[in-house]
Amino acid sequence: MTALSLQSPVAAMKGVGERLAERLARLGIERVEDLLFHLPLRYQDRSRLSALGGLRPQQEVLVQGRVTHAEIVVRRRRALLVRIADTSGQITLRFFHFGSTQRQHLVPGQWVRAFGEVRPGLAGLEMVHPEYRVLVEADDEPLERTLTPVYPTTEGVGQATLRRLIGLARAYGGLHEWLSESQLPEALRYGLGEALSLLHTPPVDVDTVALMDGRHPAQRRLAFEELVAHQLGMARLRAQARAEPAPPLPVPTAEDLSRRFVSNLPFVLTDAQCRVIDEIATDLACPHPMLRLVQGDVGSGKTVVAMAACLQAVAGGFQAALMAPTELLAEQHYRNAEGWLAPLDVRVVWLSGRLREAQRSEVLAELEDGRASMVVGTHALFQDTVRFARLGLVVIDEQHRFGVHQRLALREKAIAGGLYPHQLVMTATPIPRTLAMTAYADLDYSVIDELPPGRKPVVTVAIPDTRRPEVVERIHAAVERGQQVYWVCTLIEESEVLQCETAEATHALLTEALPGIAVGLVHGRLRAAEKEAVMRAFKEGALDLLVATTVIEVGVDVPNASLMVVENAERLGLAQLHQLRGRVGRGATASSCVLLYHPPLGETARRRLQVMRKTQDGFEVARHDLEIRGPGELLGTRQTGLAHLRVADMVRDGDLIPAALDTAHVLAAEAPAATDALIRRWVSGGIRYAQV
Ligand code: ADP
Ligand code: MG
Repeated sequence: MTALSLQSPVAAMKGVGERLAERLARLGIERVEDLLFHLPLRYQDRSRLSALGGLRPQQEVLVQGRVTHAEIVVRRRRALLVRIADTSGQITLRFFHFGSTQRQHLVPGQWVRAFGEVRPGLAGLEMVHPEYRVLVEADDEPLERTLTPVYPTTEGVGQATLRRLIGLARAYGGLHEWLSESQLPEALRYGLGEALSLLHTPPVDVDTVALMDGRHPAQRRLAFEELVAHQLGMARLRAQARAEPAPPLPVPTAEDLSRRFVSNLPFVLTDAQCRVIDEIATDLACPHPMLRLVQGDVGSGKTVVAMAACLQAVAGGFQAALMAPTELLAEQHYRNAEGWLAPLDVRVVWLSGRLREAQRSEVLAELEDGRASMVVGTHALFQDTVRFARLGLVVIDEQHRFGVHQRLALREKAIAGGLYPHQLVMTATPIPRTLAMTAYADLDYSVIDELPPGRKPVVTVAIPDTRRPEVVERIHAAVERGQQVYWVCTLIEESEVLQCETAEATHALLTEALPGIAVGLVHGRLRAAEKEAVMRAFKEGALDLLVATTVIEVGVDVPNASLMVVENAERLGLAQLHQLRGRVGRGATASSCVLLYHPPLGETARRRLQVMRKTQDGFEVARHDLEIRGPGELLGTRQTGLAHLRVADMVRDGDLIPAALDTAHVLAAEAPAATDALIRRWVSGGIRYAQV
């Protein structure tokens, strides 16, 4: 029999049968070492006794006293009530489930030690179902000498089992340090074993504040290692994806579709657009899939960049698919694409979930036999019934709405003749660079860091909704000057029905308040054709004022619109406000954005509105957003696979990211064994997830 090591499967451990091993696997614990890295969620302090007289509700404490009274009461539910007292006071222990032995033990005079959460009860403070022990004498049992870890559990694997198994695993020894001292930041030269020891059994004099905040050096040491491992895992994923075959699409020459499209545009591309188009063109010419993220603030002109890429694919004899997160945006992209591509004789079709069956099958047939060179649509493009003759490029607009796994699913399904399509992801969600490098580490990264010339800054004001009549007056004046206006209705409720009703009511009110002004309405519950008609009327100037729900948040482009009013702006997050505001300031007229709020303002809302007034730079906005909200919400944790970070937190530990990236580069180049081991130790689950 081979000796057990940290790398042995948990099933090899004493007392771990097949069933338990299966359950442990649900916690990501497969090998003995995984137990060591199953870290506590929080800690309990059972190292000292709290006086019964000084307890407050919500405290989780260890107490001790003598039973003064015990009885079974039957009110709504039968319960055993046991009152214990010490010299300072008393508390009631309440049990709903109890056996006769328990009743026999908990009799007056008996010493009891209990651990649980203090709650207010009908007759003073209580603990419901505390963990307890009957003592022979007051000092019968020694107190814990460390804080007690509380681990993430799963059905059938409780705290006690985990504590026992982790204790066993810690006795194995042979834990490998994959990071040499010089690879750790100076402040974090903490031994791995020492760090784990501290986290599994913190001494009672540990800096508990730092520990609870995740800022203890032992945690930072592990966070650093995890960030390194995460980076290595993502890099591997990326290397795997890039090793697949993809159609090489020749870089366009002057005669090619892509160049002709660009020269037909009524404007000159910005340097940033040209640079990014070139970066993409070079990628597409390679026989391996491009995986590139293009980040560009709202209004930076990402659509034409995407279109140029699509045309490179078409010129190379392949199809391109452009996918948008909302029907409205997909529709708009389709209209644009049609306008641009018809003169070039390129056939583009439109696919949404709302097409009628006959139209839909026609579109599907055209994609399958290759008559259509390009398709624009919503996530309907993901469906299994959609087959492509020779898909060469997938463009996903406004990536933050799609998850990594959806992106990968599309890639998989689109393999044609063994070739993977190239992938371009576009997002306006500005995220700080280090964060982007961590979150999107499987993608290359381009930035359009320049707006088209002539854009005027959007003046932003925040006004209490008590001054709504003034705002309505302002709309009047703007329309008289030939400007167009958005009025955005928001509701915090997820209920689309309510949102739409509110928008309808506002539409009626504004129509009445603004005679002679053409007011339109668009919301999510209109039929596709209705939405399209309203948007077209607004774009063509037949409507002066468009009342809308947040359906217009992403991508909508009507350059003549130069005033936006956002109702209940205090309810929206910064990213959303920034996206919304990006709908104005697209033309040559000076634009403004009025953020109507309902007083009184909470602290967070006040900070957000202040950021909006002060800056229009998406990266600035994102920096503040990150401070206010944290990256999980910013990126949508589930969507990025970031949920798999166990110790590290991208904001709190953000300062460690650059050094972690450096260390990861060195390891990837020089230490394949360490790379494998670190990925296995920290991220195997995450990587598997990302490979869906
Ligand atoms: P976003 O990056 O937010 O998706 P769009 O692609 O919708 O931005 O572009 C915003 C507007 O700017 C569109 O009306 C587009 O036609 C226009 N535009 C794009 N590039 C330029 C440019 N280089 N010069 C002038 N206008 C441009
Ligand atoms: Mg866009």
